Amino acid sequence: MTTTVNPATGEVLARYTPMTRTEVDQAVTKAATAAAAWGGSAPAAAGAFAVGQAGASLAVRLQVLSRLAGQLRADSDRLASLITAEMGKPIAEAEGEIEKSALTADYYAANAEAILGDEQVEVQGAKAWVSYEPIGLVLAVMPWNFPVWQVLRFAIPTLAAGNGVLLKHSPNVTGSALELERLFVRAGFPEHLVTTLVIDEPEVPETIERLIEDDRIAAVTLTGSNRAGAAVGAAAGKASKRSVLELGGSDAFVVLADADVEAAAAAAVRARFTNSGQSCVCAKRFIVEAPIADEFLDHFILGVKALAVGDPTDRAVSLGPLARDDLRAALQKQVDDSVAAGAVLAAGGHSIDGPGYYFEPTVLTGTGPGMPAFDEETFGPLAAVAVAADAEEAITLANSTQYGLGLSVWTSTPDRGVEVARRITSGAAFINAVVASDPRLPFGGTKRSGYGRELSAAGIREFTNTRTYWVA
Ligand code: NDP
Repeated sequence: MTTTVNPATGEVLARYTPMTRTEVDQAVTKAATAAAAWGGSAPAAAGAFAVGQAGASLAVRLQVLSRLAGQLRADSDRLASLITAEMGKPIAEAEGEIEKSALTADYYAANAEAILGDEQVEVQGAKAWVSYEPIGLVLAVMPWNFPVWQVLRFAIPTLAAGNGVLLKHSPNVTGSALELERLFVRAGFPEHLVTTLVIDEPEVPETIERLIEDDRIAAVTLTGSNRAGAAVGAAAGKASKRSVLELGGSDAFVVLADADVEAAAAAAVRARFTNSGQSCVCAKRFIVEAPIADEFLDHFILGVKALAVGDPTDRAVSLGPLARDDLRAALQKQVDDSVAAGAVLAAGGHSIDGPGYYFEPTVLTGTGPGMPAFDEETFGPLAAVAVAADAEEAITLANSTQYGLGLSVWTSTPDRGVEVARRITSGAAFINAVVASDPRLPFGGTKRSGYGRELSAAGIREFTNTRTYWVA
């Protein structure tokens, strides 16, 4: 049985019966048939979406996509409440997640035609062009931290490109996963084109490996930990299938000596504590140049202590519980081990007693390589601060990580910020701004943060067949 629990109270929300192996197999058949009919990637089976063998035209697909944006907005209150109940983020952030998903549907409805249109190429004696064609059914293994957004930022472009989506979501957000399946049908997408699998947790690794090997599945994407990413990436390699991995991060937030320190500290609080610190692109390591370190810390700690921790349905609350008790225990161990290694607790540091999986907003100072708070991904309200003697040392410290997802640099001379950013490896660099994904821009990692891109033109093309035509 898959059980969902409200992390704000510890109470059981719902129980779901996992699918049997036969049910999973039947669901894959239906999803593959729907995908073939939608994109025309293979002969459409009888009973599938009635658009003919050629698949739905891009124009038809994009019309349905614009209806998805409207449906998301219409269902926003219900979806946001479900997200907050299942994983504990403050309700306004859950609503923001729905609106961002709707904006992404709007973006692709307006731009996918231009991105996916044939590209003519001048060649002598023939007509040649590049076409972006659907590949079929794509398996998506997704995490709980943005139960709707993580799925939709992959699913919207993937569906627009003419593919189908087979979703294996995290068990603690099973209600959201099943709701998403219904949402697509309400918006007008064909039945089974987006299919949610509910799999018993112990069977997940073996089932996902089997699905990746299955000829009915064309490719796989995973957002989550490096452990899960390594398993999925290995299986995709073994099956010679395309994969996108969006894994962990330990983003640096570099504050140079010439920065507006007060503004940087206020942004640092947002950058670290949004979603209760449970985001891959949350800033996790705050690397501050020595001349402004004390001033930065004063403002930062004041901001952290002002965060209102509590019931995420209360609109006055800015920090909800962690999503699961085991994640809270893992965070506590990272704090304790870092303190044992020499870090200094400047704020918080402990689980909060009582029902729910709350953790104090925490700041560790004096951190650096060799400490879990600096070396590992910390997925909760924990900020690791390190002081750098100068910009050179800040660059060295920022690069001292196995991860390379986002980067934020603060300075009153933006050109210098860009110069510093060029010397730090990451998939995105934001100067005087908090790292965030945006449908118009590619999103993804370097180093152990994964490979491939989501969003923008790069994201929609990940799951297409970039096909060459040559007509003599
Ligand atoms: P996981 O990476 O274990 O879960 C993410 C998804 O991967 C889930 O659907 C999970 O399913 C699935 N999964 C796990 N193991 C495998 C496997 N061997 N083969 C195929 N699929 C698998 O994350 P957790 O929820 O356990 O969180 C642990 C840590 O991961 C966090 O503390 C954080 O550091 C990191 N994380 C990072 C995220 C990010 O956005 N970068 C998002 C979530 C977590 P199931 O749960 O059913 O096993």
